[in-house]
Amino acid sequence: MKKIFSLAFFLSTSAFANLHLAPPDFEVKWGRAVFVDIKEASYNLTFDVESKVATVQSRIVFENKTEGLPIFDVIPNPYDIWLDGKKVKYSNAKDPYGQDLRLVNSLTTPGAHVLELKNTLSANTSFSSSGKSASSAFWIRDLKYRKFLEQYLPTNFEYDQFPMTFNVEIKGNKKPSMDFYVNGDITQTSPTTWRINYPAYFTSSSLYFHMTPKGSKRRIEEEYTSISGRKFKMIAYSEPYLKTSDFMKYSKEIMAELEKDYGPWAHSSWIAYGTLPGGGMEHSGATQTSIGALDHEMLHSYFAKGVMPASGDDGWMDEGIASWRDYGYQRLPSVSFSGSNIGRQSAYKRNTDDRSYEYGRAFFAYLDYRLQDMGGLKAFLRGYFAAYNQTIVTTEHFKNNLEFFSGLDLSADFEQYIWGKNSSNGSVKANPKHLPLTEQQLRNLL
Ligand SMILES: [Zn+2]
Repeated sequence: MKKIFSLAFFLSTSAFANLHLAPPDFEVKWGRAVFVDIKEASYNLTFDVESKVATVQSRIVFENKTEGLPIFDVIPNPYDIWLDGKKVKYSNAKDPYGQDLRLVNSLTTPGAHVLELKNTLSANTSFSSSGKSASSAFWIRDLKYRKFLEQYLPTNFEYDQFPMTFNVEIKGNKKPSMDFYVNGDITQTSPTTWRINYPAYFTSSSLYFHMTPKGSKRRIEEEYTSISGRKFKMIAYSEPYLKTSDFMKYSKEIMAELEKDYGPWAHSSWIAYGTLPGGGMEHSGATQTSIGALDHEMLHSYFAKGVMPASGDDGWMDEGIASWRDYGYQRLPSVSFSGSNIGRQSAYKRNTDDRSYEYGRAFFAYLDYRLQDMGGLKAFLRGYFAAYNQTIVTTEHFKNNLEFFSGLDLSADFEQYIWGKNSSNGSVKANPKHLPLTEQQLRNLL
């Protein structure tokens, strides 16, 4: 175990300056699109409960290393855009993999810059008919295209980590009564405003934000003592017709198991929003989940939202590890599929391949077999988590550390099963842990 740590500290000195993990810059007809490093972002979210309109006013401090048109993404059309105090326009572009994104349409010299812009917020946001209150939740999905924070506000690709501040205002009601469920520090700053500070290790797929009229969910809160001795809050909440206490009870059981296997919980708290059967989705130290997927989503606070993937090509590891646990940590002498490219489709790919559960699980069962004399794959994962928690990793990084830990050459295995040719031996079933909910089903969770 010691070997991995000395390498770890050497490699992780540049925490949070992640531009080396960005996909390559690329040419568009009107210039060169350049990836940026967001240093910090603050978002003013205004929910006007009378006119039933929500808007986001963003201020993003970023740095670019090369001259070009800065890349960002937000699905609602932005307007009123300023770069370093000058009014600018945006353009729509496609990256070399064909995915949509936005460019600041202004040739930008290397250095630090300030981007300010606005957009309306409508996804997973609703207003009460009384004109007094609002609900909003920033649900995300890892298997679907463009379903991270860009659904709601301007952000970056998943490789980037930066602190985010939300300034939330309820406009049109002088005494709004709200509940917030967030994985950041929240302070009420006036009768109608709140500030939420999210940690610097977060990416566009980490934060949890759910605002509801006060009392509309049933909430249970307990203090949990980690194996490290640290005390933190555990919150379970749900619709009153669900058994909220089951989500708390099960959370504590799984917490004990995961801390024993992989080490102390690394997030500031644990929030479980218990919903009807139908899978769930993980955030950092938080989830929206059915009772059946709660353990799977909680594991993701270690692998997916603790050690975090740099891109959609790296997301197979999270789903593979979680699925390997779902099926009882199998140890198998061979791999049950002939090959796949689940980890090598495009440096630009932003969502995880659906086959990652089945193929990832089978591949990890095989790696566990290969590593059996060294304590198995779990021993490696425990060290890997300890060394790289709250950082961004790639498949190559995982493989290098695995080889360093084990002394094995795993190149041929990765080339065949993860970075190989596309394969379709048998149809892959939808994973019950992350069922694709419809837009309406997601809104129903508000
Ligand atoms: Zn999962």
